Parts: sequence; structure tokens; C-alpha cells
Amino acid sequence: MARVSVEQLIREEIQALSAYHVPPSEGMIKLDAMENPYSWPDGLPQPLRQTWLDSVSKAQINRYPDPAAQRVKEALREAMSIPQQHGLLLGNGSDEIIQLLAMAVAKPGRVILSPEPSFVMYQMIAAFVGMGYVGVPLDQEFQLDLDAMLEAIASHQPAIIFLAQPNNPTGTIYSRDQVEAIIKAAEGLVVIDEAYLAFTESDYLDMLDLHDNVLVMRTLSKVGLAGLRLGMLVGDPVWLDQIEKLRLPYNINVLTQISAQFALEHYDYFKSQTETIKQQREKFQAQLRQWEQQGLLDRFWPSQANFVLMKTLAGTAREVFAALKEKGILIKCLDGAHPQLQDCLRLTVGSPAEMESLAEAFFDILDGHANQ
Ligand SMILES: *Cc1c(COP(=O)(O)O)cnc(C)c1O
Repeated sequence: MARVSVEQLIREEIQALSAYHVPPSEGMIKLDAMENPYSWPDGLPQPLRQTWLDSVSKAQINRYPDPAAQRVKEALREAMSIPQQHGLLLGNGSDEIIQLLAMAVAKPGRVILSPEPSFVMYQMIAAFVGMGYVGVPLDQEFQLDLDAMLEAIASHQPAIIFLAQPNNPTGTIYSRDQVEAIIKAAEGLVVIDEAYLAFTESDYLDMLDLHDNVLVMRTLSKVGLAGLRLGMLVGDPVWLDQIEKLRLPYNINVLTQISAQFALEHYDYFKSQTETIKQQREKFQAQLRQWEQQGLLDRFWPSQANFVLMKTLAGTAREVFAALKEKGILIKCLDGAHPQLQDCLRLTVGSPAEMESLAEAFFDILDGHANQ
């Protein structure tokens, strides 16, 4: 009997996907993935570092972790002021939570909807679980096109709508009124993805008290703990109890639980790093504004996250990206990733020293192009 071929067995929508690509970055100034620039081994003050090492050295690696990660949850509630009436579910990064949510609702004909351009995992995970995906274009300023959203909601009846607040890769934030209009129009769930909460004044946790079809998703990744993989979903236990059934029992490992607990107990320290990053963002945006006025850059979109999206002079984004890489600085080139991201580059805000190197290299490159 002939064995089945890959093409026959693997679902078509999986064959059509390209795997999530992570470029090599060894030895580079890494400003491509919205990570916090401060490492623990060298960055943590010595007493804090010792506290962490002591707790890690007591880790019971031979045992399964606490399946409920109870102490981490308590520390999260404390650090993020999450009231007891809300349920809490933890994921191996919020990516895993998106997957759990999708698995819970997937059925033929059902779709996930989000504004576009947005976080690529919403669309990828829809494909993973065999769901359809509907992307609704944002407007020129990367704000919601509310009419288009309401129309798409009415015609597709999405099982889940993902709204990243602030949005990745645009850094923009949608108005409360618009978000509420979407929540009211939606018959399915609306998940507000607050991955960049630490860098904005907006906070949508109160939507949980106002609407019974909302869940709020957060992560420790962008505040300095990307390597730990810890995301959370907050909302009515009636919803979360169902999602819990799909969560693999030990998805939050022993080292992550211990390290996250440590970090959350010293959350003020990580908050102060976010403050520095916000200051760097403002400083860099002032610089971008100047370059924009000098005609070195088409434009940028003021950001409420730890990254900035900008548009280069027509047709130069890929060259600018490559020239920066040549100088040892890795950012993200989004040209070609989405029709609305033509000529666009996204870069993560790093430490003051990194931003200084970036500004210098960037100016040289942009100035060179403008004078060609
Ligand atoms: C980075 C990011 C995430 C993923 O976070 P993890 O917790 O690291 O999986 C989720 N949503 C948005 C919008 C992001 O940019």
C-alpha cells in the first residue's frame, strides 16, 4: 500500500502558511521584536540579582509545576490591580492564549476578525485551527474605520474580534467610543489585547464590568520578561472556566513561575525601566519629526507602545533596513507585509545608548538617500 504524501495529509491551509520567521541577531543591536533592552544577568542591581538566583536555585526541577500557578496569579493580581471578581488564566505567552481561545470556538464557517494591519498571530492562529479570518483595513492614520468594522461584523458574525490596544505594528490606540461601539455590535467575544499596556495611559480592564462579551489579554513579554513566556487572560470566570479545559496542565514551567513571582514582587523596578523607555520614545519621535520636516522621511505615526512605525521616502525602506543591518542594527522591515505598510519600518525603542547609536546611523542613511 502506498504511503500517503505530505501534500495529501497536511491540511491545505497549513501548507499555504510560511513559518513565523525569526532573523538571526547575534551581536547586533536588536530593535526588531519589542523586547525590553535590559538583560537580567548584567542589568539587575546586585541585591535583586541575588534574590532571584537564590529563588531559582531552590527550584524543584524534578517536580511538575503547580498546575494552577496560584502564587504567580496572586502576584499578578497585586502588581496589575486585578480585582478578585475577575478570573485569571495563564498562557505560555499570550500567543498561547490566542490559540486556546481559537480552539475553543473553532467550527467550520466561523471566523476571527481584526482590524488590519495588526498582530499577525490572529490570522495565523485562525489558519492553525481551521477557522476563517477577516481583516478590516484601518484608515490612513491607522485608526479604526468604524463603519467598515460594523459592516464586517454584521456580515461575518465573527466568533472572536481581536483589538490590540495599542495596536502592533502601528503603535496607535483606538478611541473608547469606537471600541465600545464594536463591543456592542459584536455577538461573539471581543478580546482586548493589552500587550503594550505598560507604555500607554489607556487601560480597558473596566470594560469587563460593563460588557459580558469582553476579555482582556496581557503579557509580561514587553515589560522585560519575553524569555519567560507568561501571558494572561482576564475576565468573567464563566468564559475562563471553559478555556481552562483546553489549557495543557503544566503550561507554565517551574522556572517561569519562580522568576515571574520574583519580578512581580519587584514590579516597581521594571516599571521604572518602562518609564525610561517611554522617555526614549518621546525623544526619538522628536528626532523623527525633525527628519520629517527636513524631507528625510515621509512620516511616522506617534506611538503609545515601545516601538515606532515610520514610512521612508518612496521605495527606500528595504535599502534603509539593509543599510542599518550592515551597521549592526536590526529593526523590522514591513514593506511587503501588508498593502498599507508599503515603505514602512518598525523599530523597538531600546536603551539610551542603543537609541543614540541608532539615531546616528539612521541619520547618515536617510541623509544619504535624500541627497541621491
Ligand atoms: C508581542 C505581542 C503579543 C505576544 O505576546 P507574548 O505574550 O510574548 O506571546 C500579543 N499581542 C500583541 C499585539 C503583541 O504585539
